[in-house]
This record gives sequence, C-alpha cells and structure tokens, in this order.
Amino acid sequence: MIVVMKPHATPEMVQRMAQRVEELGLKAHIIVGTNRTVIAAIGEKRNGERETLESYDEVEKVIPILAPYKVASLETKPEPTTVRARDLAVGNGHIGVIAGPCSVESEEQILQVARAVKRAGATGLRGGAFKPRTSPYSFQGLKEKGLQLLAAARSETGLAIVTEVMTPEHVEMVAAYADVLQVGARNMQNYHLLQAVGESGRPVLLKRGPSATIDEFLLAAEYILDRGNSQVILCERGIRTFESHTRYTLPLATVPYLHERTHLPVIVDPSHGTGLASLVPPMCVAAIAAGCDGLIVEVHPDPQHALSDGQQSLTPQVFAETMAQCRRVAEALGRYLAVSAEPPQPAAVSLSS
Ligand code: PEP
Ligand code: MN
Repeated sequence: MIVVMKPHATPEMVQRMAQRVEELGLKAHIIVGTNRTVIAAIGEKRNGERETLESYDEVEKVIPILAPYKVASLETKPEPTTVRARDLAVGNGHIGVIAGPCSVESEEQILQVARAVKRAGATGLRGGAFKPRTSPYSFQGLKEKGLQLLAAARSETGLAIVTEVMTPEHVEMVAAYADVLQVGARNMQNYHLLQAVGESGRPVLLKRGPSATIDEFLLAAEYILDRGNSQVILCERGIRTFESHTRYTLPLATVPYLHERTHLPVIVDPSHGTGLASLVPPMCVAAIAAGCDGLIVEVHPDPQHALSDGQQSLTPQVFAETMAQCRRVAEALGRYLAVSAEPPQPAAVSLSS
C-alpha cells in the first residue's frame, strides 16, 4: 500500500506514520517527492491495515500498489530517480556513459582506456576485476589487484568506477574500491548477492538476466530496494532467443517499456547485447533514440589482443566517434548527454595539404 501524506505533513509526522506502519508488521519506505511524501507499506496483506492507516489526520489516502514490484513501481514514486556516483549521473534527464574494457588487464591498459574514454566524454569507467566466464579455463580477472588498478585510474581521471561483484562475501572488498557495484546478468537472481549489495550503501548497476522476464528483472531490483538502497540502475544487455547471428538479442523496447513501469533509470549495454563491435555504434545511437538514461560500452586499446570480449570491444577512436553521434541524436531529441569535466577537444585541423 502507499500511504500518501497530506501536503502539510511535517517530517516528524512522516516518521510517526512510518513507525505506525512498522507496528502493523509492514516495512516502511519513506519516499520524499517534490510535492508530497509517501510511505510505501510493504508486506503480507492482512485485514484492516488500510482503514487503520487512513484514519490518521495527516494521511490523505491509502492506495494499493498493484504491481508485484512495490518500491520499484511508478505507482509508488512517479518521479524518475537519478542515480549518481561522482560525475556519473543517470536518470531523470541525465544520460551517463560508462565505458572501459571488459576486464582490467594491466596498469597501462586501464590507464590508457580511462584517459581515452574520459576525453570522449564518458563519466564512468567500467572494467571487470572478478570475471564471470562461461568456461573455468578462461581468464578470471585480476581480482583485488584489478580493483587497485581501477582505483588508480580513478585517482588520475576522476571517473566513477563501475565493476562487478560476484559473491556476497566480496561485497565489502569491492565496495571499498568501486563507486558502483555491478551485478552481472548471470547473477540477476542471486538473491543473497542482491541483498548484500542492497546493504552496501553503494549505487548498484543491475544487469538483466539473459532469460529473465521484465517482471523477474524488476523483482530482482526490488530485493536491492527492499534493503533501503534506492540507487539502482537497470541495464538491458540482451536476452537469449532462437537467433544466433548476434551473441544475444538486444530488445530496445525494454527501455520505453520500463519507463512506463518504474522510476529507476534504464541503461543499455550494446556490447554484450550484440557481441560484435561493428554493431555497437548503431545500437548505441538507437538506444539513445529509444530514450535510455545511459550506456555501458566495452572499449579496449587493442581489441584483437583483449583477454576477454575483444570481438565486441570498440577502439578508443570508434568510441569517440560513437559518442559524438550519440550526442547529436540526444540533442535532436531535446535531451542532454552528460560529459566528463574535460570536454572533448575539436579535431585538429591540418593546415598542410
Ligand atoms: C560484463 O559486463 O563484462 C559482463 C560479464 O556482462 P554480463 O553480466 O551482461 O554478461
Ligand atoms: Mn564483457
């Protein structure tokens, strides 16, 4: 249920109502909007709570939440959420771009990519230190050493670090280095991990499982929100279909559909979504046109020698060109692509013929 407070309700009244909600055996999530505050009262439905809560003077009305995902639902919070980490902002008008290699491989590699993607306008740096690989014989990541290299790249560039955490036991360690914790597609329904990142206090980037329905995706986000963490970014990264010409099938309709259901920001990962570098730039542009709140893109200084996902990684040059196109499409639609503090330099004009 949503307990809608009257416009004049003071913070003390809101706190008292939240306490009352908890006394009824429900969990209270206070959501402060621009016009008024609501309390999402979540839990098993019993008899009479609605009438009890509605009887308070400071309460305007109590309405049921129809969606199975309660805190994530637009019914609970009609205003879009902005997720922020350093200069990275996604949602509610901000389009943020996260770019970097699939895996952190060396100090030179991560610093080189970090400088290049920042120059092109990205505000977040991605890079896997713990890698979920299909084969146990593939490169599994540099682990804590990789996290340290990411932190060094942040010190130099100021980019927000986005990196994957694979188990609840590692959440504390990864959160000590990262600005945003990524929950990978394979772990979307690892409920203990979702709860642990929910308690971490760090923003979370949640990837859609390759065979998850939208309801399952939103209920996974709900596990994080339920632990009091409202900073959740949803990421469409492609689903498994009968089609095999691309690595996955990237359904861009997910973006406007999710915007009709949830206030959480939605970003798109065209790298994993297609698995082919040549398809990534047009799908980045298409995702912006579809209204996404951001992109996460794999970029490698030497894709042919990447230790993972080289076939879908852009060179820094192609990434910069893609960003320029995305910016133009965003502007054409009256939207704004957030850029890093260091704006992209205009291409040098050669005077010699
Ligand atoms: C990744 O971002 O490198 C990754 C492994 O992504 P996903 O979980 O979407 O497969
Ligand atoms: Mn990858």
